[in-house]
Amino acid sequence: MTVFDAHFAAALQKRETAGTRRSLRPVTRETGAILRDGQRLIDVSSNDYLGLADHPLLRERAADWALRYGTGARASRLVCGTLDLHHAVEEKLARFKHCDAALLFASGWQANASVVPALCALSVAQTGHPMIVFSDRLNHASLHHGCAAAGVRQVRFRHNDLAHLETLLKREAATPGLRMIVTESVFSMDGDRADIPALRALADRYDAFLYVDEAHATGVLGPHGQGLSGGLADLTMGTCSKALGGMGAYIAGSRLLCDYLINHASGFIYSTALPPAVLGAIDAALDVIPGMDTERTTLLGQAETLRPLLNNAGFDTAESTTQIVPVLIGEAQRALDVATALESEGLLAVAIRPPTVPAGTARLRIALHAGLQDADIKRLAEAIIRLAGNEQ
Ligand code: PMP
Repeated sequence: MTVFDAHFAAALQKRETAGTRRSLRPVTRETGAILRDGQRLIDVSSNDYLGLADHPLLRERAADWALRYGTGARASRLVCGTLDLHHAVEEKLARFKHCDAALLFASGWQANASVVPALCALSVAQTGHPMIVFSDRLNHASLHHGCAAAGVRQVRFRHNDLAHLETLLKREAATPGLRMIVTESVFSMDGDRADIPALRALADRYDAFLYVDEAHATGVLGPHGQGLSGGLADLTMGTCSKALGGMGAYIAGSRLLCDYLINHASGFIYSTALPPAVLGAIDAALDVIPGMDTERTTLLGQAETLRPLLNNAGFDTAESTTQIVPVLIGEAQRALDVATALESEGLLAVAIRPPTVPAGTARLRIALHAGLQDADIKRLAEAIIRLAGNEQ
């Protein structure tokens, strides 16, 4: 017993009543397959968009680097955890992103949650005033967390509404302090895209720094999977945990930016460096991703097949134009019920509920993979229509 137990229980009960209590349910994996409770499932929920987590080259290099260097980096980067491998992978990432430099972080969450405050601190140090952060309303929790950690007031613009953003930029034009626009390039829960060239133009017009989270675009969109921010963002953050099939994240930008972060980003400074196996997987992913145009075309083609099947049956898939296709259900418990029914038919299409998404917009978040067959897409659409369609 602890003195918090009654409070923990009350907080969980509140979630239970709202239908938003979460719990962990393990799966197991065999190459190319996912199983739960002994049942083989078609996975349309994980973010391994290109199937690289199963790729032999990634497995081999991860194993090889672990055998050669050991299982851990043993220290944080600034102490003695920076291996030659970190430098080699960072150089490769910088070439992949066509940037001067890149810096690895332990996760995407950690990168956003510590890089945003590091940048905000720059405004206070240099101007004596807080950073003015213009954020898309649907930005990932880690970006909001970064702003909260920095203690800055976010100026939130309506999702992908650049006219609204410009109104806010104008409104704040005389406010002292540096300014920064923060967006995702592909939104994780809606699968739509930000207009990066237009954001660049606004950033230039209002002297703002442009921060783009490419977690879901990296490996999937843009020339050779480089993402959508190519040469337009001042800072790109990307994860190695989704299409790259591994773990960790990077910041790409100028050498000056990376040097600043090495000195000021607490999540970089005070955390143990990524281990050799993870670096090996990232390194191999960067070797294979540029050559995967066929898989990228297949993946986006699957989404183009799925969306009209659902839309014609009356389902709302928001503004998705990518491999992420939300199927809006509305009420949290109903989304859960549909996901459970789909799973009993062998389809792993997880329900995403508030607070991850706004209230009333619980959904199935369909994340497609290049390895799915046309028949899988048709089976998925048919099952969703049959199991969720009667109350549309
Ligand atoms: N940004 C976005 C847009 C994401 O969707 C995620 C993952 N959910 C992250 C950052 C965090 O990345 P990671 O899982 O590598 O911590």
